[in-house]
Amino acid sequence: MPMNARNQDKPTVRGEYNSTGYEIWLDDRLVYAAGNHVQDSVQPARRRQDRLPPRVIRSFCIRSAREIAAERGLPVDLHCDETDDPLSQHVETLACETERLGLQGRVTGSHLTSMHSMDNYYVSKLIPLMRDAGLHVVANPLINITIQGRHDTYPKRRGMTRVKELMAAGINVAMGHDCVMDPWYSLGSHDMLEVAHMGLHVGQMTGMAEMRRCFEAVTINAAKVMDLRGYGLAPGCHADFVVLQAADPIEALRLRPARLQVVRRGKVIAETPPVTATLHTQQSPLTVEFSRGS
Ligand SMILES: [Zn+2]
Repeated sequence: MPMNARNQDKPTVRGEYNSTGYEIWLDDRLVYAAGNHVQDSVQPARRRQDRLPPRVIRSFCIRSAREIAAERGLPVDLHCDETDDPLSQHVETLACETERLGLQGRVTGSHLTSMHSMDNYYVSKLIPLMRDAGLHVVANPLINITIQGRHDTYPKRRGMTRVKELMAAGINVAMGHDCVMDPWYSLGSHDMLEVAHMGLHVGQMTGMAEMRRCFEAVTINAAKVMDLRGYGLAPGCHADFVVLQAADPIEALRLRPARLQVVRRGKVIAETPPVTATLHTQQSPLTVEFSRGS
């Protein structure tokens, strides 16, 4: 399964905003910044943006990221609407700008947690707009369930975007990790099975078909977001895959089992021996398997 690795052939434009400022990154290079923490690095012509209300700045960032991407022929991943505010609707701007600049299929909206709290009528109009713009969506279940709903007493909102509904509308939805070990989330391990496991619980996607869709969210859907060529298990694809100690995708999600082999371009680059548990009772030691077998 693919991790959230960067596609070597294609640099990515990424927008981030948080309580201290707004940034646009071209791969690892900061190309635009606004906000208190980056005053010194902002080009003088852009400093006036710092005096604008936050929502105007965010819209400006969305437009800037789109234009840089259109100019350079790059994909975009914008982390936006990462709040519980039902009026945080930047994904609408994202969809409109994507259409305006003809970037359909190349733009991703990550987090979109405010969609969890939005008015249902508005969402019934928004989702088709996102689908028509060919937006990809990435939910980040581990950080979303940790950060969102913090201002709530009870009931507490879950905060993750509407994964099930977006998938049902035909939008490509992947699940990712975002922060792995930082002050916002310190329990990450880059384990995409853990991500999908949390995602299916938060999204209440525990039907057999729904669990498989969550497995796809960290495999084939994520590959579509990154436009990975030669991805998959079909003849002609790159021989990149992970062999799990599990009978099928649902068991992989249930057990998050040992990764027996990691293969890249046909070569084994990492191995873990099969995990076994031995039970010591009054009889002879007994080997226990948690797999239901194939
Ligand atoms: Zn983010």
